[in-house]
Amino acid sequence: MRVAEISVPAIRHNVTRIRELTGGAVIVVVKGGGYGHGAAIAAAAAFDAGAEIVATADLEEALALRDAGIAGAILCWLHGVRADFGDAVAADIELGISDLAQLEKLASAALSQGKRATLHLKLDTGLSRNGASPDAWDALFARTAELEAAGTVRVRGVFSHLANAGDENDRLQAARFDDAIARLAAAGVDPELKHLAASAATLASPHLHYNAVRVGVAAFGLSPFADKTSAQLGLIPAMTLRSEIVALRGVPAGTGVSYGFNHVCETPTTLALVPVGYADGMPRALNGSGAWVTVAGEPRPIVGRIGMDQFIVDVGPLAGRLSLGDPVVLFGDPERGYPPVEIWAGLMRTINYEIVVGIGPRVLRVPVDEDGK
Ligand SMILES: *Cc1c(COP(=O)(O)O)cnc(C)c1O
Repeated sequence: MRVAEISVPAIRHNVTRIRELTGGAVIVVVKGGGYGHGAAIAAAAAFDAGAEIVATADLEEALALRDAGIAGAILCWLHGVRADFGDAVAADIELGISDLAQLEKLASAALSQGKRATLHLKLDTGLSRNGASPDAWDALFARTAELEAAGTVRVRGVFSHLANAGDENDRLQAARFDDAIARLAAAGVDPELKHLAASAATLASPHLHYNAVRVGVAAFGLSPFADKTSAQLGLIPAMTLRSEIVALRGVPAGTGVSYGFNHVCETPTTLALVPVGYADGMPRALNGSGAWVTVAGEPRPIVGRIGMDQFIVDVGPLAGRLSLGDPVVLFGDPERGYPPVEIWAGLMRTINYEIVVGIGPRVLRVPVDEDGK
């Protein structure tokens, strides 16, 4: 009764669009369970559309993709201090390496597995998160060059991540990235892939494309910009969050709805019960904000407090033509008449990323081949 339909053609379309836009390799980021879409569904669709690599933050997510049968290249870069790189090397996971300690740990894992490990050097050019900071570069590059020359590791990539703090800062970070690439070359390492841009820079800053980009949200058809829609960017939102009417009730004027009666019906109307709640990632604070869903193709308001498992829609004008089991769409592609996820994000003062990644485990992810099939 709770389904996130994932349009595989939409993900393929978005990845293809990004490949056409950049002309280089595309790394599709499927962390956070594929931004809530299902990591394996997303990874398979990305490879179908010609992605070079899929990426996660955590090694656990990367290993889960291998276990799910994803055979292509997988990269991950955020490591716990006790992460076992032996598992990574055994499963041919490419690792983002941020410091000498990680590099030595990877080299030992490679030697004990009897396999060359593949890595991407992760550099901090100004975001101040993980990645090696500039004062650590020369030592890291020198040791990386030694290990590559010895055949212990292969340096497939070098990458950094932008702070999205404006064009001037982007250029500053790119200049530091260029400097790092030059210093790495001087140390004798020339990685195949240089990647800096995530979705925002991929869509807006061609001068930051290098020969590979790393896109997450855009591959799922969502806009990384507050002032541009998916359609304006040529992207198709891949997730349609659906449920169904499980109860219908005619009520007189003056009826209080849900916990605390913060909604009271002004006129006689009909209320539809929909079994999705905050356990499923529907924000409880949407309550009373004017959010709407699509019922029988029509926009209808969410009324009363959202519960852990269910919410209520005022379907008054449609009552005569509704039956139990009729579909309710909570969000999806606005080009198909559905509420865009950005309505919830805006009301919650957050970004579309947080809403889709927060869709809960009770919601079944169902890959669909074409609209609704
Ligand atoms: C999450 C992430 C991305 C993808 O970001 P989007 O804005 O979703 O494209 C790329 N690179 C790194 C390092 C990330 O953590």
